[in-house]
Amino acid sequence: MSSNSESTVVEGTLEATVSSEVAVYEIPPCEAGDSCDLPTDIVLRSSDGIRFGAHSRNLEIYSDGFPKANSVTHTAEDVELPEDSDVVSLLLKFMHHQPQPDLELLASKLLIKFANAAEKYGIYCATGVCKVMIGLSVEEQPFEVFLYAQRHGYTSIMDKAGKLAITQEPAKFFAYAHSIGDTTWRDLAELETHNLSTQTVFDALKEVPDWPPIFGAWFLKREHMRQAIFDALRNPSTVLHKGGMLHCADWYPFLSDLLGKMATSAPTRQSLIQAIKGSLSLLNDCNHCGIAVETVLKSKLFTLEVIAKKPLSSFLEGN
Ligand SMILES: [Zn+2]
Ligand SMILES: [Zn+2]
Repeated sequence: MSSNSESTVVEGTLEATVSSEVAVYEIPPCEAGDSCDLPTDIVLRSSDGIRFGAHSRNLEIYSDGFPKANSVTHTAEDVELPEDSDVVSLLLKFMHHQPQPDLELLASKLLIKFANAAEKYGIYCATGVCKVMIGLSVEEQPFEVFLYAQRHGYTSIMDKAGKLAITQEPAKFFAYAHSIGDTTWRDLAELETHNLSTQTVFDALKEVPDWPPIFGAWFLKREHMRQAIFDALRNPSTVLHKGGMLHCADWYPFLSDLLGKMATSAPTRQSLIQAIKGSLSLLNDCNHCGIAVETVLKSKLFTLEVIAKKPLSSFLEGN
């Protein structure tokens, strides 16, 4: 009994194998070429599951990253690509001898995805024009352009994109530069984080590995800057009031209000000016105290400027 049933199973398996071999492996026609009549002999499947019929000979001629023609033609299996169908469609167009799509019409996100794929597969008739187009679109998405330029070693685009990314998304760029161990870009980005809240910088940094020492150094620098502002506010230039008084009665409530604001604001000239504006009414238009406040902004914030410009590295090293 048992040997009979075993043989039945084996026969069933054989039948299944034979029928799957008989099944036709369908290769879609080429849609990438302008009225292309070359036969398709390979299927590229995009990450979103679209099957593209392609010519292995073209892949070999126009790229250096796709599978070689003689290694894939007879496997009868789709070649799975990590790129989505928008990108695969463009890659295939560029691997035909024909006028190429106008990259000016691409959304900037797709342009970057396509450019990265063209670099990856060595499709050199696309990489150059992509680089030019991305160089022109740097202001639309500087962070993504920086990543692209850095990955492929395009230093002039990288510099331009990095500087723009720092001003547009300082905390994100600061954290990213730290994550790749680039202390020069990290310290440049840090200079632009001074007006951000501690929470914003913390939230960005904790997304990357090994962030605690960097956050510690950043926070230490912030406290030094805050101290410099407090020192300046507590020692304004002397402006004698009538009767020889250094300050009038309105000064102390004003100062107290201002120090309270600066205890929680970003310790920068910009937020100090903002806080002074908010507290100024407490001086009741006393000209003498007004002059004292002006001298703080004009000549007492030197230490703050010095600390603000110090590279973050010097706080990491405890100097
Ligand atoms: Zn074709
Ligand atoms: Zn006064």
